[in-house]
Amino acid sequence: MVVVMKASATTAEIGNVMQRAEALGAQTQPIYGQDHTVIALIGDLTRVRRETFDAMAGVLKTVRIQDPYKLASRATHPEGTVINVDGIRFGGEEVVVMAGPCSVESRAQIIETAMAVKEAGASVLRGGAFKPRTSPYSFQGLGEEGLKYLAEAREMTGLPVISEVMTIEAIDMVAEYVDILQIGARNMQNYGLLQAVGKAKRPVMLKRGISGEINELLMCAEYILSNGNMEVMLCERGIRTYETATRNTFDLNAIPVLKRSSHLPVVADPAHGTGDWELVPPMSLAAVAAGADALILEVHPDPESAMSDGDQSLKPERFAELMGGLRKVAEAVGRKVASPGEQESVPIDADGRRAVLA
Ligand code: PEP
Ligand code: MN
Repeated sequence: MVVVMKASATTAEIGNVMQRAEALGAQTQPIYGQDHTVIALIGDLTRVRRETFDAMAGVLKTVRIQDPYKLASRATHPEGTVINVDGIRFGGEEVVVMAGPCSVESRAQIIETAMAVKEAGASVLRGGAFKPRTSPYSFQGLGEEGLKYLAEAREMTGLPVISEVMTIEAIDMVAEYVDILQIGARNMQNYGLLQAVGKAKRPVMLKRGISGEINELLMCAEYILSNGNMEVMLCERGIRTYETATRNTFDLNAIPVLKRSSHLPVVADPAHGTGDWELVPPMSLAAVAAGADALILEVHPDPESAMSDGDQSLKPERFAELMGGLRKVAEAVGRKVASPGEQESVPIDADGRRAVLA
């Protein structure tokens, strides 16, 4: 942290600031400029609060130098983090495509979709079993039954699975069936849930809150990391703005901003970002061009009859077409789209849970 003194600050005021900082355990380094004196506070700053200095006589302002999100920050971890999920690498050279329905609706629906997205080249299957819906009267998801179908689809296709967990109580159960835990936009700042998935033994994809600032997203990732789980991905899924032409405003800026600020893999979700299947292909291509490490897309065999998010779901044929475009854009930016199939299928036990728990 740096304390910038007013041009009118007296020697006594400068001395007071230094004394106060040292009393709080910091070391001080004054820099005497032509107009302003600046005091750098270094070393152990755990007891130093900006407000203490902002209130002192002669102080113009304080400036934070280090990111408050120490574990998520690229400054403290310059190399990008690679998260390996059954041989699928997030944050490496390859761009990972995750696809599947918004909600798991039936065994047949998830298996059909899983086969179709694998055929088109997706390497991770998505599907919600616990759905955060605006109305309590809307379809809330199949719960554990949906997770069992996902595990079955996983066994048949070999595709690792991502699914949302909404409560602390459900974490252990969801983690038994899936490979990646999704924290939804509405729960970005559910700190108890974040602390709990920080102790879970599964990678976590944390979605940006509907009105969440990028710095807030990073602080929320910090909650997971500081609880011991270093496998966190950050997901841009659109934010609420004054614009009503689209469901949300897909913040393309967030992708390079997150890549610059953090070493964690960045996922783009143009389905929720736009709310409109026609806009999903162009924004998916744009996200890869902007540096996204992965995409998460909604694909449904019959979007018109989907129980959630049909408007933003691609039909399997359109998804396959998009995959062709993604391969070209990935190549143009020096990357490749990850391909499915090399990973071994993980058997499930009689209850539908993964037989081998890593
Ligand atoms: C979803 O992935 O279907 C979902 C509910 O996403 P979000 O939390 O971003 O709204
Ligand atoms: Mn959805």
